[in-house]
Amino acid sequence: MQKIPMLDLSEQYNNLREDMLRVVDEVMGSSKFILSDNVKKLEEDIAKYSNTNHGIGVANGSDAIHIALQASGVGPGDEVITTPFTFFATGGAIVRTGAKPVYVDIDPATFNIDPAKIEEAITENTKAIIPVHLYGQMADMEAIMKIANKHNLVVIEDAAQAIGARINGKAVGELGTAATYSFFPTKNLGAYGDGGMIVSNNDEVAELCKVIRVHGSKPKYFHHVLGYNSRLDELQAAILNVKFPYLDSWSEKRREHAAVYTKLLNQKLEGSVKTPVEIDGRYHVFHQYTIRVEKRDELQKFLAENGVSTMVYYPLPLHMQPVFKELGYQEGDIPEAEKAAREALSLPMFPELKVEQQEYVVEMIAKFFK
Ligand SMILES: *Cc1c(COP(=O)(O)O)cnc(C)c1O
Repeated sequence: MQKIPMLDLSEQYNNLREDMLRVVDEVMGSSKFILSDNVKKLEEDIAKYSNTNHGIGVANGSDAIHIALQASGVGPGDEVITTPFTFFATGGAIVRTGAKPVYVDIDPATFNIDPAKIEEAITENTKAIIPVHLYGQMADMEAIMKIANKHNLVVIEDAAQAIGARINGKAVGELGTAATYSFFPTKNLGAYGDGGMIVSNNDEVAELCKVIRVHGSKPKYFHHVLGYNSRLDELQAAILNVKFPYLDSWSEKRREHAAVYTKLLNQKLEGSVKTPVEIDGRYHVFHQYTIRVEKRDELQKFLAENGVSTMVYYPLPLHMQPVFKELGYQEGDIPEAEKAAREALSLPMFPELKVEQQEYVVEMIAKFFK
């Protein structure tokens, strides 16, 4: 029996080890640990990569969303429209600003928020929309921006899973008010610890993000806004500066693996599983390769018994999370998200994955259906 991990970071580290040890040594020898040259370089590089003017390194991707919302003026009394089919942090960040999340159903083909359902959720209290570019494919930002512009809404793109993704040539962060990245170790550009970044073309929002991440201090020790301590640290930035030049080649590898999975699954399974859809004009960076299957839990168990690890992102949509009970949603309120939570299964995916490993994964899936 083969053992196929969901994600294996060891080969990547072995390839980069010398550079990593060198830059970590440099940072420690420099005694500059907070908001120094490495953070600045990464902010510049990633802002440019996102076709934006500003990058603001923060402690993690969750804080990035929270800070971007706060800097855009979202607070108590406001409503923020988002998808319930996402990681908890998207909803958590909204609540942390004092605003109320309003959950809108997804397009079952892409798992992303369905723009056709956004307008009916808008009220006089709506202040912002957070599209989440789930699994590495951008939500329909063109349709979302049309709605946002018509109703004068802020748009914060949760791009934790989608660094490098494009829609008709436009980057994450280029169309929205701001976009947020996570450098959690498992993300496409992962640190060796926590990290995050906000990118934006909006000068005022970017400036406020910078102030909020240092306790709202400007000038130092004078506080006009309530901030907190949320900085990307210099060591993680140095590590990310080593990795960043490889990001595009890693995305290409992910796309190649996705194409192999799709080809093999369609050849061998003839429709028992639904393979991911890449919409025309979108560049999907396959943070996850996520299939849909009705007997998801049984398949996952069978694969585990045969050495294949898989993950369910995410088993319980946010509107059904116990902590959000007070929002008043019931099971059945957001049917496509609930269905996706029952059917989605993410297969092993990382740049160093081997074709033979993919063949084994697909062989085991085919075996399950026999
Ligand atoms: C990972 C993730 C986050 C949170 O990022 P952290 O760096 O772990 O705080 C937010 N949203 C989505 C969609 C994510 O996948």
